Amino acid sequence: MTRIFSGVKPTGHLTLGNHLGAIRGWAEVDQHRADSVFCVVDLHALTVDHDPARVRRLSRQAATLLLASGIDPERSVLFVQSHVDEHARLSYLLECVASDGEMRRMIQYKEKAPVEQARGGSVRLSLLTYPVLMAADILAYGADEVPVGEDQTQHVELTRDLAVRFNQRYGQTFTVPRATRPEVAARVMDLQDPTSKMGKSHESGAGIVYLLDEPDAVRKKIMRAVTDSGSEVVYDRENRPGVSNLLEILAASEGGDPEDLSGAYESYGALKKDTADAVVELLRPVRERHRELVRDSSYVEEVLRAGAERAREMSRPTVDAAYRAIGL
Ligand code: ADP
Repeated sequence: MTRIFSGVKPTGHLTLGNHLGAIRGWAEVDQHRADSVFCVVDLHALTVDHDPARVRRLSRQAATLLLASGIDPERSVLFVQSHVDEHARLSYLLECVASDGEMRRMIQYKEKAPVEQARGGSVRLSLLTYPVLMAADILAYGADEVPVGEDQTQHVELTRDLAVRFNQRYGQTFTVPRATRPEVAARVMDLQDPTSKMGKSHESGAGIVYLLDEPDAVRKKIMRAVTDSGSEVVYDRENRPGVSNLLEILAASEGGDPEDLSGAYESYGALKKDTADAVVELLRPVRERHRELVRDSSYVEEVLRAGAERAREMSRPTVDAAYRAIGL
């Protein structure tokens, strides 16, 4: 059976981008067709300046939101990365097959390092090596597929390169995985700056819809979304990024094709209103289920405990095999 691995970073509150680009597909499609492993990748949250209590809180919140989004612990393995030692164990071995040059070429590193430098003067070494840890996350489980948003494509390519290189040098050890992504909304853009992705760690939340936003806040943010000059509703990601982003969000939220939908609108206002309504309806069940789950914290705790146990069983044989293969 196909094995799937994917994760979310607890660096901020989960966004509509995370939901449409990844989580919804995991819950609605992936876990029903494949052997699925989903992880709150908390070690990755330490790659930038962090508050320990906040990371702990956000990890729990992310796990609760994954359950609220429909991840079913009877079907999928759900756990927190730091509860399973195999990730860090394997990451070190992969650092021994990766080169510093290929790390420095990663787009996310090139984008984030200057921001960290401007903030605090230094860049954590773990920010540079983070894609190696991500490769370890994926390879430890022998995943065939990694369902992610478009921004993670390069890191999955790196994972493939490292797997192939390790296998060639030390013998067949890892499955070489491939990235999969949704057809629509694989890259949801910021509502205030539609040339950059809706990212949970952005400073200002005005252009970001969070999964736990109240309906009023969702409506306000979408109604105030920056649109393009001109008034015609056309789908053209290159030249009309603001309107195209709304069309993608609408299409992904209620089904349909962004290009087809564009024909149904004569004004930006009507498009915004329908998009806001669709997103409010999309998020309503998630918020309601989340509200129930926070009242039952022992349930979430038990899911994560059992998930970590299962994840250890799944990953240990592959990581042990990698230790033997490399000469330890
Ligand atoms: P981020 O901190 O950028 O939200 P994560 O690594 O936690 O990054 O993202 C979790 C998943 O959500 C990944 O598969 C990522 O590709 C996807 N994702 C993140 N932001 C977006 C976005 N704006 N549009 C589509 N998918 C996204």
